[in-house]
Amino acid sequence: MRYISTRGGAEPVDFVTASLAGLAPDGGLYTPQEFPTIDRPAQDEPYHVTAARILKAFAGDTIEYDIIEGLAAKAYGAFSHQSVAPLTQIGQSKWMMELHHGPTLAFKDVAMRFIAQLYDYALGLRGERMTIVCATSGDTGGAAAAAFAGAENVDVMILHPHNRISPVQRVFMSATGASNIHNFALEGDFDQCQAIVKELFADEQTKRRLNLSGVNSINWTRIAAQSVYFATAQAQLGADAKIRFVVPSGNFGDALAGYVAARSGLLNGFECHVAVNANDAMARLLAGENLEKGKTTPTASPAMDIQVPSNFERLVFEAAGRDGGVIKAAYDQLAKEGSAPLPEKAIGPLGCMGFKASSVTDAETFVEMQKTLEETGWQVCPHTAVGLHAARHNPSEADIVDVVLSTAHAAKFPETVKKAIGQDAPLPLRAHEFTSRPEVFETGPMDISHVKERMVALSRVTA
Ligand SMILES: *Cc1c(COP(=O)(O)O)cnc(C)c1O
Repeated sequence: MRYISTRGGAEPVDFVTASLAGLAPDGGLYTPQEFPTIDRPAQDEPYHVTAARILKAFAGDTIEYDIIEGLAAKAYGAFSHQSVAPLTQIGQSKWMMELHHGPTLAFKDVAMRFIAQLYDYALGLRGERMTIVCATSGDTGGAAAAAFAGAENVDVMILHPHNRISPVQRVFMSATGASNIHNFALEGDFDQCQAIVKELFADEQTKRRLNLSGVNSINWTRIAAQSVYFATAQAQLGADAKIRFVVPSGNFGDALAGYVAARSGLLNGFECHVAVNANDAMARLLAGENLEKGKTTPTASPAMDIQVPSNFERLVFEAAGRDGGVIKAAYDQLAKEGSAPLPEKAIGPLGCMGFKASSVTDAETFVEMQKTLEETGWQVCPHTAVGLHAARHNPSEADIVDVVLSTAHAAKFPETVKKAIGQDAPLPLRAHEFTSRPEVFETGPMDISHVKERMVALSRVTA
């Protein structure tokens, strides 16, 4: 199994290389040369075994099955629910897939925990160390910190805007108690943190010195690992069930993982409703409108405040008949001019790939949180509520079962929950391992040379 770039200008590479690299050298996203056909899981197959079988199909001959199963067992042993992604019924033919049973209470744990195991193993084989750098406005940093805590061969450097993320989100990154996790609280905003990360990656000397990599949502292994719970949902509801997945969406990684599961034979057909907040780029793109570098609007579902959904590039690559040239032209134009039409030949096919989308306001999100509480007695997080609202107001056909992805635990967004339903959202007991340890982070100026100097001082990668 080889991986090619969506922009057609990079050498095909194997699974481990694609995973460790993140972005392809031509700026495109790695995607498998062809989709494998994978046997669907039986209802009673343990989650980590399904994960191992699916990831083995994507890994090809780079890693033995037994090794992958061992990595998956370690990754998923840390979940508080043994089925990892349990379904709970919330109405007639309506289910919620709970993806927040990981250590940091959001679905990003599912993929990140596997990636951490994979990286540490693969780097160990190569005798290498690596520095992972990421900017976070919330969930990604915590998932990465918790997953890589104690990794032998990886140091993680996380940049966040000082005093601009919620205390609950911060504690998952700063109280891991691990000496290989480093947090920088910088004076400024998230966009500035992200700009520093981009500059670090563009600086060849620093990149080499620190053996830099990222684990952001374009990493193929994240997509592959997320396709697993779409397969287990199909298995739990029965092989013949026709499912519509309703996916709260930001960078379009989770929704794309559903498409990948379907293309790999793991689902009975494919229908997906992409639920976005006021940052509605995905709804516009699926309708064939231009790629646009618009400004993001802050909302009550901050993990979805994204205007250029990075994984859309993989979908439009498929829609354009895998023509890397037209994808490169469109994204080059977007970078240069801030806007670009979709490739002509992608527009028709985009409408026939099983996706629909709708946008949900903050006011609607709050109403949905209240209604869900009244109907089921459960507190839901604002991102999940965006999905629930979209499902409620865009009813599917009679023979179709809805599965709404619950992407985070309500306790991760206590201020919003309080505002919407007037209740406190206490942290589950398992999160107390974080609140019982001291927070460790260093504050500093929003300045790239300062950040570079500190990273070189802290990294275990030797020059
Ligand atoms: C990251 C995130 C999302 C968006 O997922 P994408 O894969 O970026 O579309 C939704 N909800 C929560 C809670 C998240 O952390």
